[in-house]
Amino acid sequence: MSLLVLGSIALDTVKTPVEERSELLGGSASYAAVAASYFSPVQLVGIVGDDFPASEFDFWKSRKIDTAGVQRAAGKTFRWSGEYSWDLNTRQTHATELNVFENFEPELPKSYRETDFALLANIAPSLQSHVLDQMNKPRFVVVDTMNLWIETARADLDALLRDVDLLILNDSEAREMTKETSLIKAGRGIRKMGPRYVAIKKGEHGALLFGENEFFSCGAYPLEDIHDPTGAGDTFAGGMAGYLAGNVKKVTFTDLRKAMIYGSVLASFCVEAFSLERLRDLNMDQINERYETFKLMSQFEVPA
Ligand code: AMP
Repeated sequence: MSLLVLGSIALDTVKTPVEERSELLGGSASYAAVAASYFSPVQLVGIVGDDFPASEFDFWKSRKIDTAGVQRAAGKTFRWSGEYSWDLNTRQTHATELNVFENFEPELPKSYRETDFALLANIAPSLQSHVLDQMNKPRFVVVDTMNLWIETARADLDALLRDVDLLILNDSEAREMTKETSLIKAGRGIRKMGPRYVAIKKGEHGALLFGENEFFSCGAYPLEDIHDPTGAGDTFAGGMAGYLAGNVKKVTFTDLRKAMIYGSVLASFCVEAFSLERLRDLNMDQINERYETFKLMSQFEVPA
């Protein structure tokens, strides 16, 4: 089954302690769509300016990412720039230029409206609701968000949460949203705001998953070399939602546990290189090899 992916399509400038790169393909939808495309066909929704490289449309096509929902507008593509500190965990945003996103009013193509799975990747919650409202009762809706919207668009986010099956956010955002220091209390508290399931990402420390009376925790893939953490969260969301859309009819907590591992696997590839460089040409053998490593890592009773 297909997955609709809405989010930003961006040109990023990223500075790490050892390298700076500019005009990189980025954006929450770019990362999420490519990650998801390893598991299911994707219907992409977004907007780019007239400075956006045409070659990217060819790449999307090669990965079975439908771009009928991507608008090309006069003006500049969304731009974001950020800088990481030495631990590659803390990040400072230097600039966010909305550009063509400022007047973006997505109109879903007819072929997208009946799609069963949706990933509303990180973008203003009002836009996420606008797209969801045009869909005909999708079976499973995944939403990703960020601190900016918790701080500046809380009412819009709260309204959206009532229609969400799985909310994905990171640890500091979960704490900010609930004013709880305990992530367990935060996860349970966010469920009371609407989402049936909540996934809390903890960067290099893995992720937590909350359902009704259900809980799951996984670590992160043990990577030695991280070059650029940008997009890891979006990739995690894309891997999770893509796995569900491609493999599951009626989502259960058991499916979500597996989906969270696939999300973590894809995110581990993402951070090994700048932009989407490492994500572009993976294959299922490489993905499944890391999946098996996760399986082995989480066994604590092994035969002598
Ligand atoms: P992540 O590292 O998973 O938080 O995602 C980084 C990506 O999010 C970058 O490629 C940015 O282009 C994109 N991004 C940053 N700020 C925003 C925003 N306010 N809305 C949508 N996308 C954003």
